[in-house]
Amino acid sequence: MKFKKIVDVLEELEKTGSNNKMRDILADFFQDCPDSDLKQATYLLAGRISSEYRGVVTGMSDKLVLQSVAKASGRDLKKVKKIFRKKGDIGETAEELIGRRKEKLSVKNVFEELNEIAEASGEGSQDKKIISLAELFKKVSSKEAKYIARLVVGTMRTGSGDKTILDALAVAFTGSADARKELDKAYHVHPDLGYLAEKIAKRKLKGIKSVGISFKRPVKAMLAQRVKSFDEIFRKIRGKMAVEEKYDGERMQVHVKGDRVKLYSRRLEDISSQYPDVIKAVKKQIKCDSCILDGECCAVDDKGRLLHFQVLMQRRRKYNVEKYVEKIPVCLFLFDLLYLDGKSYLQKSYPERYKALKSVVKKQNNKLKLANRIVTRDKEKIKKFFNRMIKKGAEGVLIKSMADDSVYKAGTRGWLWIKWKKEYAEGMMDTFDLVVVGGFKGKGRRSYSYGSLLCAVYDTKSKKFDTFTKVGSGFTDKQLKELPKKMKKFKVKEKPKSVNARKDMKPDVWFKPSVVIEVLGAEITKSPLHTAAGGLALRFPRFLRYRPDKSAKQATTVKEIRQMK
Ligand code: ATP
Repeated sequence: MKFKKIVDVLEELEKTGSNNKMRDILADFFQDCPDSDLKQATYLLAGRISSEYRGVVTGMSDKLVLQSVAKASGRDLKKVKKIFRKKGDIGETAEELIGRRKEKLSVKNVFEELNEIAEASGEGSQDKKIISLAELFKKVSSKEAKYIARLVVGTMRTGSGDKTILDALAVAFTGSADARKELDKAYHVHPDLGYLAEKIAKRKLKGIKSVGISFKRPVKAMLAQRVKSFDEIFRKIRGKMAVEEKYDGERMQVHVKGDRVKLYSRRLEDISSQYPDVIKAVKKQIKCDSCILDGECCAVDDKGRLLHFQVLMQRRRKYNVEKYVEKIPVCLFLFDLLYLDGKSYLQKSYPERYKALKSVVKKQNNKLKLANRIVTRDKEKIKKFFNRMIKKGAEGVLIKSMADDSVYKAGTRGWLWIKWKKEYAEGMMDTFDLVVVGGFKGKGRRSYSYGSLLCAVYDTKSKKFDTFTKVGSGFTDKQLKELPKKMKKFKVKEKPKSVNARKDMKPDVWFKPSVVIEVLGAEITKSPLHTAAGGLALRFPRFLRYRPDKSAKQATTVKEIRQMK
């Protein structure tokens, strides 16, 4: 199939704002797509060049793509940059400058060339990437160049996301959107749209139901609900419960097969190279043929006492890893098991999973141990445990159902896990993970930085980021100073399509929704200024910290703030 077909679909998607229309456009395409192209076409339509969990990216920024455009078009780089500044979009810039060649390339050609660009690494790789992309540009039409440029930087701007693609696959191959629930489940266990497209095309719902868990394929993490009162926990969870310390670190999924170990973050990134010490501990202390474990990795001091999340974030690095292994030791606290010796445990109850987890942990020490927990339904005992955890610096506790139906719900925030944090117990508001979408320039003493950041919550239904508050306090002087530099690469010319803001909301700068910050708020009130949940806003927000472990779509949702109001 010609790549032009994909371009036609992307163009149609870009023209419509309706989710249903987008679903129908995609479904029509999928029905006619030859089997041999389906996988790659699905990735490209999702704006990717691989599955979500493999997360292959070209590693090219706007700046590098502009150099390829200059090379391919024979124009002066300065002129290319000027056009880019005027247009504010890398795709439209490429479209204007790249020649009008006939569309000859196939989906396979483009997909493979983009993956080759992604593969280039090490010394001189930037130049290689620029040249390879310029060569690709020389072979395509203006329209093709537009979408290739956007694919390369990872911003499709069509407004359709993974959810629309799942809807379209359900409609195209089963005739109705009813199969979406099963598709969602499968997607959480195997986050790979291309793979799922092939499965559903070949074997319909049966194919989707057969999707399983395996080594080196991270599963989306199960999440916890919040409650407004302590008593509500007992209405939501029946019978005995496991009450566990809530660690303030980085979620870690551990995959073991023989002597191979892989570690994945909550965003499904492969973080194995950052934690050679965790890998060593897992090899020594976990005994089984193969397993997949869930836990939280925290920075600890030499006595094994927990340190702040911010300390752990220094371990997020490509270089000097060994030095930081020494400088910032960590401990992995395990609390779940999803797979053991060839068998999925996702559908087993939590007590069964925990029993299996205990059986594989052969040794516990300050490098790896089971999470602190008690099993009870006694309110006083739970309060005592909670207070003990808070005293030693924990965020709170997680309370987990032990009922027969307490399965591992991958990618879902359900009532089987409930979090109870210090803030709730003190009658304070919870913290919010908000997406930075705009910036207001600072005045007077703050003129070197932003005075406040326009922040949004995520609406899973409309797939938009709705503005919720402006955050101006809580930053240290150092953080303020670094803010303009940190946000620079996310600046965009106009309000991104994915941001839902009132017309009169006019920040000095718009940002591509990428950076997530944790914010403490005093109260949620009605406000005519913001769009969240039809006009809710957070009052007196205070910046607490950056959340690099969360992607924009993993921010607090509109549904959550409605529940918290
Ligand atoms: P928060 O911002 O409150 O940490 P979150 O949005 O990051 O919340 P939640 O699902 O609300 O995530 O809370 C669960 C998170 O708490 C998990 O993602 C995990 O990283 C962390 N956690 C710490 N200790 C545990 C534990 N014992 N069991 C499960 N999750 C735990």
